[in-house]
Amino acid sequence: MNDMSRTPRLASKRPSRPAASRPAPQDEEDGVFPDRTGRTSKTPFAEYAPRLHPEVPARSAGLEGRTDVRPGHGTLRDPEGLAAGGLVPADRIAALEAVAARYAVAITPAMAELIDTGDPHDPIARQFVPDPAELHTLPEENADPIGDDVHEVTPGLIQRYPDRVLLKLVQVCAVYCRFCFRRETVGPDAAHLPPQALEAALAYISSHPEVWEVIVSGGDPLVASPRRIAALMERLSGIAHVKVVRFHTRVPVVAPARVTSGLVAALRSGGKATWVAIHANHPRELTAEARAALARLADAGIPLVSQTVLLAGVNDDADTLGALMRALVECRVKPYYLHHGDLAPGTGHLRTTIAEGQALMRALRGRYSGLCQPTYVLDIPGGHGKSPVGPAHFDGTSVEDWQGGRHVYPTRPTET
Ligand code: SF4
Repeated sequence: MNDMSRTPRLASKRPSRPAASRPAPQDEEDGVFPDRTGRTSKTPFAEYAPRLHPEVPARSAGLEGRTDVRPGHGTLRDPEGLAAGGLVPADRIAALEAVAARYAVAITPAMAELIDTGDPHDPIARQFVPDPAELHTLPEENADPIGDDVHEVTPGLIQRYPDRVLLKLVQVCAVYCRFCFRRETVGPDAAHLPPQALEAALAYISSHPEVWEVIVSGGDPLVASPRRIAALMERLSGIAHVKVVRFHTRVPVVAPARVTSGLVAALRSGGKATWVAIHANHPRELTAEARAALARLADAGIPLVSQTVLLAGVNDDADTLGALMRALVECRVKPYYLHHGDLAPGTGHLRTTIAEGQALMRALRGRYSGLCQPTYVLDIPGGHGKSPVGPAHFDGTSVEDWQGGRHVYPTRPTET
């Protein structure tokens, strides 16, 4: 049963809103982007380097020419800005305004400068540039695709499993991904977690000794200020049964300059075991700046894992997926989850089939180090949690090797 009657949601379903009235991030201290980060010309994955076209105007000029973003920040937040930044042609502005009125838009300079505007299938653009296809909702799609509502125990706090809770510290993000599973609730005009809701969440955690791990998510929790993160860690430090605090974030990849020594210190404060789960979907995202940001976290002793969403036209081929996993491992990030695309509204054009995902996992198994193997998972609609959906290599009598050969294996010890 949905217990929302006793725990009202923090952020209501996103209403359609006039594109022209889209606000900037609410909290200046929690502003997302302290400075610009440029695309490196020395990405180690040269084969994925964007092909720059001479007819494409310099995007940096377009970014700096924006008037509706804060000086020095340069995040693109509406179709007009995307056009000014050279990411979409001007004649698409009107069509994209309808999408932007429905779902939030933000592309950081780090991601904008990775986009090859000469490639109509650019995998970075596909993740961040709005598409009219998003206005087509399929019958199986759901505003709450993984069932957050069902498991919300206090506003902004979700307990789907016995030993861990997920705290939605903020509802804003540095970028807004076109496939986001929380796209109905995240956005620059969505509510922050109010102080009284945070207190209620901490009281719940404190009174539930089975909670071993707190997952801090959102939105993207690393858009919060170091001061705010340190304050949270301080509060959690007083709850003895919480041993692990895990942050889920896209910031080190999409806004790497935000990973400052102050942020790293805040993450490490409080005395708990802090883990950071990095969201990355394409090897080109692992720029020199992103790699340096990840190194700052790893060098501080913070264990890193990754989450990747399997996306049609972005990473649904073995070469791209394998290169991404290798890039992550090179950055001391252990590939953790490969998520099957959730049934979020207007995302059907970005989803693969599970059979396609399983075939990719078989390809990874054969060709890449064991360190590069994520677990392919599906968040079961309705709030039933994650389940592995990768290929089965043992059928009860024989096991499949990495080249597809089968080998009989005894099911029980031979009686002598
Ligand atoms: S960063 Fe995460 S929460 Fe934010 S839009 Fe992307 S997928 Fe959604």
